[in-house]
Amino acid sequence: MKIISGCVKSTKLEWLPVLSHIALPEVHRHSAELKMIEKIQNSPSLPIYDDFYNAPNKRLKSRNPIWTLKRRIITEGDLWKLHWKDGEVLNNHFISNPTQLVPGFVFPRAAWTALNRVRTGQGRCNYLMHKWSMVDSPFCNCGQIQTIRHIVEKCSETKFSGGTSGLRNGDKEALDWLCNLATRL
Ligand SMILES: [Zn+2]
Repeated sequence: MKIISGCVKSTKLEWLPVLSHIALPEVHRHSAELKMIEKIQNSPSLPIYDDFYNAPNKRLKSRNPIWTLKRRIITEGDLWKLHWKDGEVLNNHFISNPTQLVPGFVFPRAAWTALNRVRTGQGRCNYLMHKWSMVDSPFCNCGQIQTIRHIVEKCSETKFSGGTSGLRNGDKEALDWLCNLATRL
């Protein structure tokens, strides 16, 4: 996922399934459970069919037999949305529906990774590079602390007219800005 989404190591894990458009493992598992429940419900000849509708009491708290799931069935998409909302990662308001392909997915790789670094707030700005002991100073040429947000929204040398939220649309203007940015994020 890291390779597909082009994220740096410090990117919050919750971002990776969204940017790479690959559902998280829990959603895959849930999808398999839903299929199995449907199969049981449509197959009265299966021995488990009776257990499913006349379930015995749970003997161990730690066990979750498939009939305990039937009351909390939600779709895969809703489960992913719940995870995304609960994850509370930085800038998660940029993505209202994590199950959809994020804008910019078809950009050339360099622009795509730079866009994701703006989205996640994790990239090669002086503030973070200084934190990682890779440069001596966290400051930008303009004298302020150079965070990703500073590069996109505030710096007189680099700022994008639409700001961070403007970039999320992934239109041609955003692509031009990402391709012409002197600082490689
Ligand atoms: Zn600056």
